[in-house]
Amino acid sequence: MTNKYMYFIANWKMFGAVNSLKSLNKVVKFFRTFKKKKFVKIIYCPPNTLINLMSKKLKNSKISVGGQNCHEQENFGAFTGSINAKMLKNVGANYVIIGHSEIRQKGETNKLINLKIQSALNSGLKVILCIGETLYEKRKKKTKSILKNQIQFGLKKISNKKDVIIAYEPVWSIGTGIIPKSNELFETINFIKRITKNKKVLYGGSVNSKNIYQLKQIDNIDGYLIGGASKDPKKFIDIIKKTYN
Ligand code: PEP
Repeated sequence: MTNKYMYFIANWKMFGAVNSLKSLNKVVKFFRTFKKKKFVKIIYCPPNTLINLMSKKLKNSKISVGGQNCHEQENFGAFTGSINAKMLKNVGANYVIIGHSEIRQKGETNKLINLKIQSALNSGLKVILCIGETLYEKRKKKTKSILKNQIQFGLKKISNKKDVIIAYEPVWSIGTGIIPKSNELFETINFIKRITKNKKVLYGGSVNSKNIYQLKQIDNIDGYLIGGASKDPKKFIDIIKKTYN
């Protein structure tokens, strides 16, 4: 039974309407009485349209809310369709995911990610920085150099790194049902901790209530970023419970 402080971050991606918030009732109820509560940090990252309502609903629950991305500009401005960190903070977010592979794939560079991180931290948000290699890069044995690059450029000139958590998400694992081999994952997490001087490092990619038994054996992981399984409260609760028993 673990007594380790662990993050459970729910990434709802582009899913969820106002009535989806009802599903949080189960999670709030579960968390209120969960015996290992003091070791658990839950953060919900819904689409921007739900952040305001969700943070009101989760007030007093000890569950936090975050955005899934933000614009790099710290100040308000003429950027149609964009939302900055200050706006996320204003509607109740305390965290923001930056550098998710689904956004990197659309051309988001490490330089842009670095600007987004700076602006998020300056706006009072904590950052969940996603890093990860593609299958092609893995096959070419470039995993470590890709991760090092993403970390070094992403965190360049960031002074308050304490408010940054890393989420290692191999791109080939996201939404595929495939997770890395345990020994490889352990080694990669260690590598990330070494070059980030011991930051919290989460794992993300097809985490579910079955493979959590395998993942929880990897004792250098500080939590999970969960996509698909986080939309179903029962599955999400199961992942948390199973991590601790
Ligand atoms: C994610 O979106 O960051 C993710 C890990 O998704 P999934 O759990 O569905 O693979």
